[in-house]
Amino acid sequence: MNKFTLTLFSKFKLLAFIITIILVIFYDHLPKKKLQLHPKPTTFLESTADSVAGGSSTFSWINEKKHHWVCEYRDGVLYTFCSLSLIFSNRPLQPVDLSGYSHLEIDLDYKGTANYLRIFVRNKYDHETKVSQLEGGKFNAVLRKPQFFDMSTHIYFDEFRVADWWIAEFNVPPSEITPDVSKAISIGIDLPHPAPLGKHEYKLYSLNAVGVYIQKESLYFGIILFWTILLLGEMAFKFIHLRNNSAKYSKMLSNMTEQSAQYKEKAETDKLTRVLNREGLSQIVSSLEDKGLLQQYSLMVLDLDHFKIINDEHGHMVGDSVLQDVAKVITSCMRSYDILARWGGEEFVVLFHCMNDQTMVTFSEKVRNAIQSATYCNGQQGFVTASLGVSKLGNPPDFDLAFQKADKAVYKAKELGRNRCIIYDE
Ligand code: GH3
Ligand code: MG
Ligand code: MG
Repeated sequence: MNKFTLTLFSKFKLLAFIITIILVIFYDHLPKKKLQLHPKPTTFLESTADSVAGGSSTFSWINEKKHHWVCEYRDGVLYTFCSLSLIFSNRPLQPVDLSGYSHLEIDLDYKGTANYLRIFVRNKYDHETKVSQLEGGKFNAVLRKPQFFDMSTHIYFDEFRVADWWIAEFNVPPSEITPDVSKAISIGIDLPHPAPLGKHEYKLYSLNAVGVYIQKESLYFGIILFWTILLLGEMAFKFIHLRNNSAKYSKMLSNMTEQSAQYKEKAETDKLTRVLNREGLSQIVSSLEDKGLLQQYSLMVLDLDHFKIINDEHGHMVGDSVLQDVAKVITSCMRSYDILARWGGEEFVVLFHCMNDQTMVTFSEKVRNAIQSATYCNGQQGFVTASLGVSKLGNPPDFDLAFQKADKAVYKAKELGRNRCIIYDE
């Protein structure tokens, strides 16, 4: 993940967090979905009163356009009634699904002496016997005191109950007596039985079904799901990113380690002969000293005899190849724990493990002999000889002092005629 993507992702997270907070705090104030049921051109108004069944109660409009009517209840039949129903669509009946809404919003004026008004929703119901849906539809009803309509306009669907008379009249099984507004055919207003005799005046301004676009539980579930996916995704992304990076860095580190080892080797190796140079020797001397092993070693300084003449007579290239051969010859005389270095020019140093004087003599003679008897590039023997000076490192060991002593011994060997070993005499 690069820096730009990271910043973008952080901004997205912040935005999502703000939206989450807003949704949770202001859930109740989120825009609601509203279905206008009245006034509506397609809504059909149906009025009825017990006068149609031999009674004397009447329904009459005061102003039909303004949905202003009066019901006059009069004695006459046992069961008096007078109501106005809003049928959502007439012939054929087309039910409206109100189950996705939480409540009705009703704006109604009432004048009269009734203790309760009744709001009812007829829901499509399939009867075994043939009966009209407007008369036989499931009768979901709620009672409200008239004062209620002055204070509030909300009637929640979960307050509706299925009327007992409807259950009894159609012999409805207990499993089907729960309120249902999923196939609403009509909504009506009337008075529950027994209604007080006299005039009851109504004026209906508006009727809407209102609900939320998303339920609180669904919203919370969605929020939790969203954040879980987001955070898990982020974790997975960071994990993969970290794993890729660590693989990249460990590769870089191993390359660097390899490179630094190469540089170290270059810095400590003589280019021509591939043996240690002075720097390399000094590193080994320090490490032997640190381990307390240096005093077990002796130092041999080896200078090739008349090397200038070899160069002059056979050329610098031959001189170089002789130096390489000499390094190989000396190495062949050494043990694994002895150390050879080219000190400079035609001068070599050997740090060899030596516990007694006899070894010093034997070893240096062995080297001198090997150099003399080896055949070099032109196939000549005795072509190259060397003068050797040997001294002990001492206890405590002192490399510089030992070198001076060995160098002096070389000088002496030269004076005495070259091609010889001199052990520095304390
Ligand atoms: P001596 O026996 O007194 O040591 O005589 P020498 O000629 O060996 O000593 P001198 O110090 O006079 O000469 C050393 C020569 O070694 C001089 C130089 O050209 C040669 N030399 C030094 N380094 C190299 C090298 O890397 N390659 C070659 N081909 N010659 C080298
Ligand atoms: Mg020299
Ligand atoms: Mg020399």
